[in-house]
Amino acid sequence: MQLSELIYTYSSAMLAKYGEKVFRVGVSTGITCPHRDAGGCIFCNPGTFRGAYQDNNLNIEEQLEQGMAILRKNSKAKSFIAYFQDETSTAGDLEYLADLFNRALQYPGIKGLVVSTRPDYINPQVCEMLTSFSQPVSVELGMQSIHDKSLNFLRRGHSQADTARAIELCREWGIETGVHLILGIPEECFGDMLATIRWVSNNTAIREVKLHNLVVYDGTDLAKLWQAGEIKQMPVDEYIEILCELIPWIRSDIVISRLFTSNILHNDLAMAALSGNKTKWMNLLRLKLLEKGYKQGSAII
Ligand code: SF4
Repeated sequence: MQLSELIYTYSSAMLAKYGEKVFRVGVSTGITCPHRDAGGCIFCNPGTFRGAYQDNNLNIEEQLEQGMAILRKNSKAKSFIAYFQDETSTAGDLEYLADLFNRALQYPGIKGLVVSTRPDYINPQVCEMLTSFSQPVSVELGMQSIHDKSLNFLRRGHSQADTARAIELCREWGIETGVHLILGIPEECFGDMLATIRWVSNNTAIREVKLHNLVVYDGTDLAKLWQAGEIKQMPVDEYIEILCELIPWIRSDIVISRLFTSNILHNDLAMAALSGNKTKWMNLLRLKLLEKGYKQGSAII
């Protein structure tokens, strides 16, 4: 049995929605995250948010042209969604952003937009702008955890109440919403992670989830804690065990579009805890789910 028969993957969701594979092409507004300017999240290494092909010095059309050409070559991709994935993509002058998003939507082959942002950068004016286009625009929120103690540790600069408010605002404006979650935050026990997953599952406005294992990247304040022996990075086999126990609690109509943190380059720290590669980890997860008789949503009555 394939992993896509055990979880609702991004590819399955795109096939159901568009009748074909649709690839996300990473692009940037070129605006630095204001929270990073103010010190930033403890784990933030902005280089790791981008695809290897991304060049933020290009204008939006050039970014799309370059990214789409590489995806076409590597994956025989034909249709695309422009994915504003780095920094905080709703931060900045709204007229500038509206023009940028509109130009991305007008670019040949682009079927829609996904805009990744922080909960505290969703407000009625942003929602009005995001719903002003004729093609769909969805939002990804950096939620990470429902526990304020964890958000404080991560130095997110927002609370769970801010996240809940942003999700409700997106629901009111009819904006499809996904959330990023981090698993393996120091001091979070399995029960804490399960509580976050169950909160997400119970929120019918959430249509997509991206799961990340907390990775210690070079040059971050998290790396300093790791080097001082104050935190550990969860080994990948432990992370897979936890994933396996959490996936059954995720509502079956939520798209799980990421299972492991992306862009784990081999010059980053703590690779010893993350040996192997994503293909191997996905297969281990598939085997574990099969062994336990689990699938997405199977624990929800
Ligand atoms: S919100 Fe995102 S880009 Fe901004 S500091 Fe945090 S992780 Fe970095």
